Amino acid sequence: MRAITLVPGKQGTLGLTEVPDPRPGPGELLVQGLALGICGTDRELVSGEYGFPGEGPMVLGHESLGRVLQAPDGSAFSPGDLVVGVVRRPDPVPCGACARGEFDMCRNGEYTERGIKGRDGYGSERWTVEAGYAVRVDPALGMLAVLVEPASVLAKAWEHIERIGSRAWFQPERLLVTGAGPIGLLAALMGRQRGLEVHVMDRAASGLKPELVAGLGATYHQGSDLDAVGGYLPDLIIEATGSGPLIFQAMLSTASAGIVCLTGVSSAGRQLPADAGRINRDIVLENDVVFGTVNANLRHYRAAAKSLGEADRSWLDALITRRLPMEEFEAAFDEGEHIKVVITLES
Ligand SMILES: [Zn+2]
Repeated sequence: MRAITLVPGKQGTLGLTEVPDPRPGPGELLVQGLALGICGTDRELVSGEYGFPGEGPMVLGHESLGRVLQAPDGSAFSPGDLVVGVVRRPDPVPCGACARGEFDMCRNGEYTERGIKGRDGYGSERWTVEAGYAVRVDPALGMLAVLVEPASVLAKAWEHIERIGSRAWFQPERLLVTGAGPIGLLAALMGRQRGLEVHVMDRAASGLKPELVAGLGATYHQGSDLDAVGGYLPDLIIEATGSGPLIFQAMLSTASAGIVCLTGVSSAGRQLPADAGRINRDIVLENDVVFGTVNANLRHYRAAAKSLGEADRSWLDALITRRLPMEEFEAAFDEGEHIKVVITLES
């Protein structure tokens, strides 16, 4: 069967290669791959900017969707079920968090991740997954369920925002999302699902991003600076650009008891002047919280599947701006104006 492979840490090794058919071990599902979402992490793996060098080639891909071909007796799955595979696996020690199923909060960094770190991903015509790391999705979602993995990251972000908020009286009204890529738009969707007044800021002056934001009943602001948003102070900011200046601005721009949730990964090395005293003063005197979030555990995948199930299908469909057959996999890694690029795996 065919798989999209690369050698982690080595540029120029991406290819469509013939690999042995996977054989499910005890407790594992055999799955027909249907779709694979591509994100910034995949592009960094392809360019060699990111990656954990192992011995040989790795199957790429962590935003999965497949149809169960074979399920072990006694598992909760049956042939025909649509499933998404979880990305991360607990570290082998395991640390206290991993031992409790909270591998998204791993403390020692020795976790593995399918298609990213130390494990083959889901970018193949067929794949296997442990039944305990597969999440069944509503067949009504169809191919849109390929958005469950990116949405799981936001489901976790929202869960943590709500847990932080519950330290005191908490009734947020206004959310600002910076960045209208897939992560920002899914963050905005979940904000609207919570009944919040949602504002989204992005550099794009026109096109699909403003339309998708309007489609949620949220307000779009064009710009690359929070001044573009106007004078109000949001209760919550979900930062999805990774832009250094914007992050400092966000920390100074919430209402009292505000929460800034950082989801964007930026590269290190850029120096910026910052008024540390002012930032500290603002955070302390307002009881603000700034926190980072990455990855997701099983309950977040389930919450994401539920959230997508309650969203408007045509809106979700519009997020997927490019669909490519497996033979054209290379084009999926081009930087472009696309929101979500998906490779279809079933020919
Ligand atoms: Zn751990």
